[in-house]
Amino acid sequence: MAKALDEFPHLPLAHLPTPLAEMRHLRDELRARGARNIPRLFIKRDDCTGLATGGNKTRKLEYLLGEALEEGCDTIVTTGALQSNHARQTAAAAAVAGLSCILVLFDTVPYKAAAYRRSGNLLLDRILGAEVRVEDADADAVKIFGALFEEIKAKGGKPYFVPVGGSSATGSLGYANAYLELADQLDALGLDQSVLVHASSSGGTQAGLVAGAQLRGAGPAIAGINVYRKDNAAMAESIHALASKTAALLETPSPAQGSIDLDGGFLGEAYGLPTQEMKDAVELVARMEGVLLDPVYTGKGMAGFIRQIMAGKYAQKEAAVFLHTGGSSGLFAYEEEFTAG
Ligand SMILES: *Cc1c(COP(=O)(O)O)cnc(C)c1O
Repeated sequence: MAKALDEFPHLPLAHLPTPLAEMRHLRDELRARGARNIPRLFIKRDDCTGLATGGNKTRKLEYLLGEALEEGCDTIVTTGALQSNHARQTAAAAAVAGLSCILVLFDTVPYKAAAYRRSGNLLLDRILGAEVRVEDADADAVKIFGALFEEIKAKGGKPYFVPVGGSSATGSLGYANAYLELADQLDALGLDQSVLVHASSSGGTQAGLVAGAQLRGAGPAIAGINVYRKDNAAMAESIHALASKTAALLETPSPAQGSIDLDGGFLGEAYGLPTQEMKDAVELVARMEGVLLDPVYTGKGMAGFIRQIMAGKYAQKEAAVFLHTGGSSGLFAYEEEFTAG
């Protein structure tokens, strides 16, 4: 017998279930552009998880903060890029839990617009009361975190470290749970031949979904769009490893080797750097559906989703669902991309 998700420590943070909405206008538009055999298109609104503008990290933080509280920790420490959506949601989750939060943000994205360094998520981190420490891209992370934990302990505090993107096996439980939630929503609509497509980065979302599919045995296929790493095969490998760890926590069998579907064609130059296809996808979905995507993850993810549909990848499916993982606060950091011309 598999272990039930409600046996893990858990702090409720998200508004669940998130809505599953149909994208009829986008489908009509893709048909007008010549796509044939398009399944029904849906969007799973995990941007509406409700915590400080929402996003996918909130589901992971329910389990991570649950563990932190159970261990009696009082200071949440996490890390990411300057415009990390994960850092912003962690700051909000710590506020809800009544814990301190220190964000160590590395200046790794070579995007030089002024707004990137002061607006978007960075602004919200400060409003949410987190202590923000910015480090150079090449700073020694091991040394920095070692010194930070000593500093917290010297003041009598107890730190809890949340890895990049909340992507530990514990964090990924949030997406095993999301998989069960979505599969039930699709069942209620009578759609049993479906696929879920999403932007994949630190891997906890895809790993959790895959573990959820192992747990449930039936439900939508899962297809990630790589927005993070040039080496697509290595990234698929690490997602498989994390999915296996998550499955082990849930006492359910590991996914088959080589079963991770990850499309490496939409990253562009690097993580966090805009692509023309991203901009087109953000504007198209805003204008067709009134839904705001983001420049780093869901814009590139949606570009992949659209191109896969145009190419007939899902012609055999009844429904293709895009998982909106959030991030629209990041649009303000990239305002120049959308105001020129
Ligand atoms: C973090 C993030 C992702 C990727 O999720 P991972 O679990 O890190 O792969 C996708 N979209 C948005 C908006 C994110 O903030």
